Amino acid sequence: MIKTNILGTEYEFELVDLNSLELNKNDGACYTYEKKICVRCPEFLFTKSDSENVKANRLMEVIIHELIHAYSRESGTCYDDDESLVEWMAFMIPKITTSYEEIRAQLERQDQENE
Ligand SMILES: [Zn+2]
Repeated sequence: MIKTNILGTEYEFELVDLNSLELNKNDGACYTYEKKICVRCPEFLFTKSDSENVKANRLMEVIIHELIHAYSRESGTCYDDDESLVEWMAFMIPKITTSYEEIRAQLERQDQENE
């Protein structure tokens, strides 16, 4: 069983199949009372013709989206009711992380050049 710690609370994580009742028509769900996140298996994300890369990117977005719901709820905010904000954050966090990593790598290179 996959587990993760959300601000001190343990959540279960599960990949579920295409027709899972838990997801309804969504690609993911966060059950804040059950402390559980369910995400559709990558092979069932988008269509059969989409590439593995596209499916992997969508999987990451859905996992981050559901994690934002969990973090929001466990931190006591009400942002998890705002689907457009959660979706924007899920879309932007990987891009912001990439920008951060680019800057960090250049800072490390700069430090090495100055040694
Ligand atoms: Zn959502």
